[in-house]
Amino acid sequence: MENITLISLKCSNCSAALQISDKLDRFICNYCGTEHALLHNSGGFFFRRLEERLENLEKVTEKGNAELAIKRLRSELATRTHQLQGLTEEKDDLMKLLNSRRADAITSIIVTALIQAALLAINLSFSVYAVAQVAVLGNILYQMSQINKIQHERQKTAEKYRPETERIRDDIDILGIKIKKKVKLADS
Ligand SMILES: [Zn+2]
Repeated sequence: MENITLISLKCSNCSAALQISDKLDRFICNYCGTEHALLHNSGGFFFRRLEERLENLEKVTEKGNAELAIKRLRSELATRTHQLQGLTEEKDDLMKLLNSRRADAITSIIVTALIQAALLAINLSFSVYAVAQVAVLGNILYQMSQINKIQHERQKTAEKYRPETERIRDDIDILGIKIKKKVKLADS
């Protein structure tokens, strides 16, 4: 059996006095957990600190950065979501208004058609009937042109909001992916 010689060295990190076997090539300080390589040269034994500690520190820093990034990304996500909500509500309000105008126009056409039916049922002089017909036809044409205009406005409204809405939706998707990645990093 080989003789084990104990050598005294100080931890390079916490300066604790350590007694270790000269047969070891690696040693972890009991006090602070710093890992050392045990080396020797003509002057005797010495420690060289291993990089693990640094790596751990980097990991901690990376984690801290990831956590900060998550906070920032989440607040950005909340802002974008809020913006999307605002835009969607604005668009929905405009659409509701247009829909109600369209419903009014349709109702007016139906009412006019009912009046037309009532006119046919009663006996009117031709001149009165002719005037009534012009009014009936006039209103139907007017309401139909209104419906046509409203349809255009609906399209214009949808197109007006689409680019920004899509851009914000893309941003939200990207932020979601970024957050997932950072969460993974922070949890590692
Ligand atoms: Zn130590």
